[in-house]
Order: sequence, then C-alpha cells, then structure tokens
Amino acid sequence: MKRFDNKVVIVTGGGSGIGKATALLFAEQGARIAVADISQESASACAGQIEAQGGKALALRVDVSNEDDCRRMVEETLARFDRVDVAFNNAGLGPQPVLTGDCPVETWKRVIDVNLNGVFYCMKHELNAMRQSGGGVIINTASIMGTRGTPGGAAYSASKHGVIGLTKSAAVEYGRHAIRINAVCPGYIETPMTDSSGNVRYEKMLQDELNRAALRRKALPGEVAELVLWLASDQASFVTGSSYLVDGGVTAC
Ligand code: NAD
Repeated sequence: MKRFDNKVVIVTGGGSGIGKATALLFAEQGARIAVADISQESASACAGQIEAQGGKALALRVDVSNEDDCRRMVEETLARFDRVDVAFNNAGLGPQPVLTGDCPVETWKRVIDVNLNGVFYCMKHELNAMRQSGGGVIINTASIMGTRGTPGGAAYSASKHGVIGLTKSAAVEYGRHAIRINAVCPGYIETPMTDSSGNVRYEKMLQDELNRAALRRKALPGEVAELVLWLASDQASFVTGSSYLVDGGVTAC
C-alpha cells in the first residue's frame, strides 16, 4: 500500500521545477495526477514520464490566469478520474527585477494575475469539487517573499503575501467541510526560475542570501515536494490555515 493509492491530485505548473518534482513524487506514491501547465509540451512530457513509470496521468494545457481554463482543468480531471482529493496550486511567474516606481502596470498586473488570481481561480473550482466528494486538501505555493519585503520584487512579494492571506481565509471557511488548506514558502530552489546565468546583479544578491542561510545552498525541487506530500497526507490531519517555510534557514537570520 502506497501513501496516495486511489487519490487524485491536480498539480499546476506541473511541467517544470517544483511542480514537476511534486507530480512525480505523488505518482510514485500511487496517486493519479492531472498535470496542468501553460506549456502543453512540458505538461505532456511530465504526464508521459509518469505513465512510462506505470502511473496514471492526464496532461492539461491551462493558463491559471484564465478562470475558464481553471474550471476546465477541474472538469476534465473529474471526467477522467472521478474526483479531486488534493490540489497543489503552484504555477507562478518569478520576480521581475524592477523598482516599484519603475514597474510597468502591465508587469504588475500579469504577476498578480498569474501568482494570486490564478490560485484563487483554481481554488474556486477545486473547493466546489472537493465539497461534493466530502473533503480534500489544498496546498498553495507562496514563497519566502510572501513573508518579507523584496527590493525590486514588489509585485511578486505582494502576490505571495496575497496567497498566504487567501490560504488562511479559505482554510477558516472550509474546515467544516473537511478541507484542509495550507501554503508552502520555498526559499531558493534549483529550478529554471532561479537560473541567474547572465544576470550579474541577481547572481550577487543570490550569493549574499545563500551565504547568510543556515544550510548555505539552494534546495532541490524534490525537497519542497516532500513537504507538500506531508501536508497532503493523513499525517497532517490537524494542520490547516498556515504556511510552512522550506528555505534552508535563509529567513532565520
Ligand atoms: P519553474 O519556472 O520551473 O516552473 C513554473 C511552471 O509554471 C512552469 O512549468 C511554467 O510553464 C508554469 N506556468 C507559468 N505561468 C503559468 C500560467 N499562467 N499557467 C499555468 N502554468 C504556468 O519555477 P519553479 O521554481 O518550479 O516555481 C514554481 C512555484 O514556486 C512558483 O509559484 C514560484 O513563484 C514558487 N517559488 C519558487 C522558488 C524558487 O526558488 N524556484 C522560490 C519560492 C517560490
């Protein structure tokens, strides 16, 4: 018996980085996975990898900033797998390095649209599906930047603070329906999002941060996935309405 046998899990941003590592780990533990990503190619590649390893997966092209896409994501998951037990709302855009006063309105709106509105649209439809089947678990990806200010990253930081507020509010509303909702706050993780090649200022900032961090390194995406699986599991049955750092101690100092 595996930890997530018979469970159905949606992972957004499942085509790369943290989302992909989490989709693969859930599948390894017996879950059937809907891999949603704005890139059809990367969603299909992840779903194909799961099926090649004997699992069951559905690839969906979803732009989380479009509510219709999010509704369709839940409907197609129900049509294929009958239920939604766990949702990992993880798709996101990285910080756009620009001072607040210089931030183009379009940049601000796109970051909020994907990172915050996208989580809301997904939750809106996932919550209704979970209520109908008697419960579930939602985990949203915030960030250490959702717990502190980020010079040059106001839109990103605001979006991630928003994800934590949304997580807490919905958790309070839906506990009575047996739905637990939490957020994870990763530090610096080895994914395309933190690939600093060619950006000298970002590279220096990152190195300064890592030099101060307790563990002095970036994490592998699988180290975030382990926390997500624990939060989704029955072992976390009393855990809801909170956010969990997985940051190698970078915010401890
Ligand atoms: P990544 O770039 O490897 O993966 C992000 C995925 O999201 C990609 O597959 C991308 O195609 C998808 N995506 C982007 N916009 C989308 C949209 N509108 N609709 C659907 N899918 C979309 O990055 P990652 O590091 O794995 O990031 C995953 C999450 O983790 C993000 O929310 C990010 O803000 C958060 N995060 C990352 C780090 C880090 O250090 N990498 C730290 C803290 C938080």
